[in-house]
Amino acid sequence: MRANTWLGGDRFEMGEVPDPVPGPDQVVVRVDTVGVCGTDVHITQGLFPSTPPLVLGHEASGEIVEVGKNVSLARIGERVAMDTTSHCGECENCRTWTWSRCENAVKSSGFFAELAVLPSQSAHRIPEGMSLETAALTEPASCCLSGVSRLSIPAGAVAVVIGGGIMGQFTLAFLKSHGVKTAVMSEPVRTRREIARELGADVLHDPAEGDLNDLVNDLTGGRGAHIAAEAVGRPALVAKCAEVVRPRGDVLMIGVCPQGAPLPVDLYDFHYKEIRLQGAFGRGNVFGDTPAAISSLKLDGVISGRYSLDEVPQAITDSASGKGIKFVIKPNG
Ligand SMILES: [Zn+2]
Ligand SMILES: [Zn+2]
Repeated sequence: MRANTWLGGDRFEMGEVPDPVPGPDQVVVRVDTVGVCGTDVHITQGLFPSTPPLVLGHEASGEIVEVGKNVSLARIGERVAMDTTSHCGECENCRTWTWSRCENAVKSSGFFAELAVLPSQSAHRIPEGMSLETAALTEPASCCLSGVSRLSIPAGAVAVVIGGGIMGQFTLAFLKSHGVKTAVMSEPVRTRREIARELGADVLHDPAEGDLNDLVNDLTGGRGAHIAAEAVGRPALVAKCAEVVRPRGDVLMIGVCPQGAPLPVDLYDFHYKEIRLQGAFGRGNVFGDTPAAISSLKLDGVISGRYSLDEVPQAITDSASGKGIKFVIKPNG
């Protein structure tokens, strides 16, 4: 099969590699769509630890074409979203933290390739009628669903999301589906604000046109939002979230801040308002629930560009430019 292998820095090599052979409990999937993630961008920029040579790509969908001897032959032909790791359900992390932190996890192969091999458990059947392109959004969406699931959302809640990239969009959509009454999207790019509107945003905020705090105060009679989610990965914006929440409000950290970054916040304010700061990393236990959770969302416009397997470097460059929302690779054309 053909695969695009990362060699370090911004270097990639397109070439033939042996077809994967499924282990007894594994399946082989013909990859349909792979999303380019901010993590892929960070790996090529040396900002996320990773050792080459490696096939990158961890957000994908496809069709099962081969199964190992312990897997039902009936799975061949199934349309699936692929998780990046399996879980044992028994280790300390599975029991007390989340499945996505399983200590005995078996990893899926990298998805920037024509075929992928992974544990049968990690290949999740998608709903009838759901497109494989939407299914490829399962991994980023599951991280947002996991984060939102950790909040308790009061009736009539007002929530603010800072950042209209893919993570902010899904976070906003799940806040709405979990009971938030009024959702505000704060995002400087107009096209991204428009997509947020499609996904249920009630109020749109352009940071160039005024301070978010003023808008939230107008909206809440000066009390502040119940929830503020940061989906950019910038410490100053996490601090902004702390500023716009009401006493006992929740700040949800969906974005990945740089390692070593301090939180530039008035800790007196934090203490006095009894703010809760909630980290949100990874898929938690919800990957398998996510395809159904996103199947009814209006996701037209979320995919900003499609590329062939040879064009992985270009897709990563375009993804880093911040112009679109989600760029995808189509390994089999
Ligand atoms: Zn990702
Ligand atoms: Zn485990």
